[in-house]
Amino acid sequence: MNEYPRLVVDLKKLRDNIERIKSCCAARGVRLTGVVKGFTGIPACTKVFEEAGCQYIGTSRLEQIRDALAYGVKGPFMLVRLPMRSEVDEAVRLTAISLNSEIPTLRDLDAAAARQGKRHGIILMADLGDLREGFWDRRALLEAARIVEGELRHLDLAGVGTNLGCYGSIFPTVEKMRELVDCAEMIEADIGRRLDILSGGGSTSLPRIFDRDMPERINQLRVGEAIINAKDAQDLFGYDMRFMHQDVFVLQAEVIEVKDKPSYPVGEIMFDAFGLKQEYTDRGVRRRALLALGRVDYAFPDRIYPKDAGAEVIGASSDHTIVDIADAARDIRVGDIMEFTLCYTSTAFASHSPNVKIAIV
Ligand SMILES: *Cc1c(COP(=O)(O)O)cnc(C)c1O
Repeated sequence: MNEYPRLVVDLKKLRDNIERIKSCCAARGVRLTGVVKGFTGIPACTKVFEEAGCQYIGTSRLEQIRDALAYGVKGPFMLVRLPMRSEVDEAVRLTAISLNSEIPTLRDLDAAAARQGKRHGIILMADLGDLREGFWDRRALLEAARIVEGELRHLDLAGVGTNLGCYGSIFPTVEKMRELVDCAEMIEADIGRRLDILSGGGSTSLPRIFDRDMPERINQLRVGEAIINAKDAQDLFGYDMRFMHQDVFVLQAEVIEVKDKPSYPVGEIMFDAFGLKQEYTDRGVRRRALLALGRVDYAFPDRIYPKDAGAEVIGASSDHTIVDIADAARDIRVGDIMEFTLCYTSTAFASHSPNVKIAIV
């Protein structure tokens, strides 16, 4: 069996990143749910989240929780995607708590919990404008809270949550966080007790921690990206993230051809392998390395970053990646291994690809 392409994971660096985000959050009274879907819940990595003492380990896919349990990770687990009605039994069996926004699903979860003699925690999601999951109407949110609190005897209303910056690209401002606190207080006034969890979002809500302006009652964040790559806060929001490792995950691939070729295709230009009209820049004859790695492994060629100084990814098809190495600092030959750091998207795809072997160091 070939060894490459291969995704190399440094568990020590992963642990450092979890600890650092966890202590940033703790300083603001916020507890960390570590979200593992960004690396397809590789069990050895999920275990590190447990060892680092996350409040919950979250993912969108029950399959990853099943794998983690089989590996000996005990959790507790949070299902961060709304449960499918067809998976409520498994959701209750495998997780302690889930994010919810539909009464029929809540009723199914309650019935599943009753059948299993278990309790299941509920975070009701409020949509504050990002327009993915969550109650849009405040009265409907309150009504759901009343039903969970008063009627569904095997469910515990743990709190409220929101998600921002995913579909609608909405920035988690102080005002948006205050809206979530308002939702919680509306429910609390009605049910006559305080809610335990106010879950203020994912990595995109970390600016509120870094800027020290997170409203006091927000006491949980569900973070994946900032731990896995620590790239968005730096590249998109301009925070200095040098205190985090950005090479927890490194993708390695083998060079299968090295040749000097023109940089502008020769002949009549039509479409590429994906039916797309591409732009090519004529830079004359250049030395290029062809890699046994392709878009099926990472999706976007502009989202893998060569570690070799001077090397540049110039294109890719399903199973090939072309890297300009004319200005590379190192002499790269056929059979050599090239390494790439990744972003959230490319880590997610690479860890999902059955072609890519996982190597833990
Ligand atoms: C994926 C997800 C998260 C974690 O997002 P990151 O950007 O990886 O921090 C948190 N909450 C929900 C609902 C999610 O789907």
